[in-house]
Amino acid sequence: MAGPVEAARIRVVATLTDVADLTRNVGGDLVEVQSLATGIEDTHGVPMKPGFIPLLNRADLLVLVGFGCEHAFLPALLEASKNPRIQYGKPAYVDCSRGISPLEVPRSTDHSEGDVHPYGNPHYLLDPVLAKVAVQNICNALVALAPEHQVEFLRHRDDYLARLDAKIIGWQEAMKPLQGAQFVSYHEHWPYFAARFGMKYSGTIELKPGIDPTPRHIEQMIAAMKAEHVPIVVREPQFPEKVPSLIAKQTGATLVKLPIMPGGVPHTETYLDMMDYIVRALVGAVPK
Ligand SMILES: [Zn+2]
Repeated sequence: MAGPVEAARIRVVATLTDVADLTRNVGGDLVEVQSLATGIEDTHGVPMKPGFIPLLNRADLLVLVGFGCEHAFLPALLEASKNPRIQYGKPAYVDCSRGISPLEVPRSTDHSEGDVHPYGNPHYLLDPVLAKVAVQNICNALVALAPEHQVEFLRHRDDYLARLDAKIIGWQEAMKPLQGAQFVSYHEHWPYFAARFGMKYSGTIELKPGIDPTPRHIEQMIAAMKAEHVPIVVREPQFPEKVPSLIAKQTGATLVKLPIMPGGVPHTETYLDMMDYIVRALVGAVPK
């Protein structure tokens, strides 16, 4: 049975597991966070479950990645939720991308080909420095919603940012051997990560974000990777292993399975654990 503290908790729905974890860290015991995604889904297409609508209907706060990351599934859910508090533009609609400049904003506004990055690349949370902006946006929204708990939220935020900052120093140190290292991935998840850690993003197996590869594209990619000696193929768990595995085999590159949100692979339940995992896996993939 819910006690008084339980009943007073702020009900947060987060779209993906990364922003869910960040919200738990800032909100602490004052929030109850449910994530629509479990971590293994495509970030652009979390499959609808019947429980989503009542969850959203009761939510005090909606936390999302933004830059159109959720544009294929969130608008319909929000409409069905019949919850006026969390609609687009309302203070409880918390877009964590606020204040971040997107990379790869398309020059064309014609999205008829199905590109799933219509507003630029939304995968900024794989850069832990930009995750700090998301933490601040979440903190601002919680303070606005429950100003009586401002002191706690700010303390939680400061504690978490201090832990994150210490981790960032360690990750940057660990990633030094990968300076300039080239890699390809299935989906364009990694431009912010590559920029932060000095890796060189050599292309994606997908033709464009959300568009399956053609045999010709795969052939060209294999030829280019051989010519450039690209040592790493990143495979995200959302996508089938067959093509990345074939490309790795044909080029002699190492295939590395990396989560793109917490819970994507075992032992990555929190954002910090996920980033630890990614750094460890990449460092382990380069020849000593
Ligand atoms: Zn994407």
